Amino acid sequence: MTWKGAVARLARVDWGTWLRGIYDYNVASRLRPLPPKILQVIVNYRCNARCAMCNIWQMRPERELSLEEFAEIMEDDIFRGIERLTVAGGETSLREDLVPLVGMFFERMPGLKALSTVTNGFLPDRIVADTERLLQMCQDRGIRFSISVSLEGIGELHDEIRGVPGGFDRVVRTLEGLKALQERYDFWLGVGYTVMRQNLRHVRQFMSWCEERGIPYGFQLVGFHESYVSNLDLREELDFTEEDRRELIAFMRELASQRSLRNVTAFYWDDMVHMYRDGRPRQTPCPFAIDGLVLDSFGDVYYCLSSRKIGNVLDESRSVSEIYYAPENLAYREHMKRRLCPKCNSACAVEVALKKEAKRYLKFLLTGSTGPGRDGHRPREGSKTAVSPS
Ligand code: SF4
Ligand code: SF4
Repeated sequence: MTWKGAVARLARVDWGTWLRGIYDYNVASRLRPLPPKILQVIVNYRCNARCAMCNIWQMRPERELSLEEFAEIMEDDIFRGIERLTVAGGETSLREDLVPLVGMFFERMPGLKALSTVTNGFLPDRIVADTERLLQMCQDRGIRFSISVSLEGIGELHDEIRGVPGGFDRVVRTLEGLKALQERYDFWLGVGYTVMRQNLRHVRQFMSWCEERGIPYGFQLVGFHESYVSNLDLREELDFTEEDRRELIAFMRELASQRSLRNVTAFYWDDMVHMYRDGRPRQTPCPFAIDGLVLDSFGDVYYCLSSRKIGNVLDESRSVSEIYYAPENLAYREHMKRRLCPKCNSACAVEVALKKEAKRYLKFLLTGSTGPGRDGHRPREGSKTAVSPS
């Protein structure tokens, strides 16, 4: 990068938000529960894929919050402080009112700075058209936009894992349409790859494919959860064998070695190497353990999608705020931090938390160590099995 590029990049940093985040994570969070700043909304549990690693497509949801119901729930002041919003599903593009729905989210979240969304890319025309409308809305409000398209392999491998013949070609069309939008709008477009036994040995083919097309990519390790994707029954089929783990660890070491000021996720990959190889508890901070919130289309509320439901706004006469701050739920979040987070391999929004835990990230940059953080997630000396990743 030239010095001019570096200066331009520095000028784009929102220093006020970043410095406040550092204060929140390192000081304020020790004194009181922080209000949520990051929100994930699951807009539906309908899906047009049949993925090997997820059971959402088998769900037949009996209810799905309408735009009006979401709007009523979001009159709660807790949403006014949200800075980062992720809109996910199911498959987001199956929500025909996606654009007005997001427009309503914008009204309820006046402090919003970033919107991200995820799609399986199977409906190219609709996805590109909706994305353009979302981009116009984001542009008008000065909100950064990013979209991630899922790709689990190149060609037939993707179709096999996603259970949709011809699905890869549709994803390619979606990516081409979205790339064309990048000529007119400034936004981040990337491809997400869930690493599992079936595609572990194809990661390099995937990386070359993306690099040839100039598309950024990221990886998520397959995880097993009782709630959300409800895929505990698939563990035997998808989880890594001992032999796979050696291959996986070598690959993760490569990702971890690419540490730089810009590549914050290298910290996470180094941490995953220690977790899978040494049984060390997770050290990577996660915003959903500190100031995150999830609301889904059933009205269920979670601190994160790997944890248990903490309430439902329709079944109980409690608002999202009342559920979020309920003493028994805050006690559960502490329990979650001690028992669930140390075993969790989720990469979801880790860069958000790592930027706020700047001291730990700088230490990693200088020393290469992701050693135990302030939450005391210390490995048991000599233990290979203290924690097995979920
Ligand atoms: S992983 Fe996503 S695309 Fe696949 S079935 Fe689940 S919700 Fe649908
Ligand atoms: S269980 Fe995982 S996703 Fe949930 S807060 Fe902990 S680290 Fe984050």
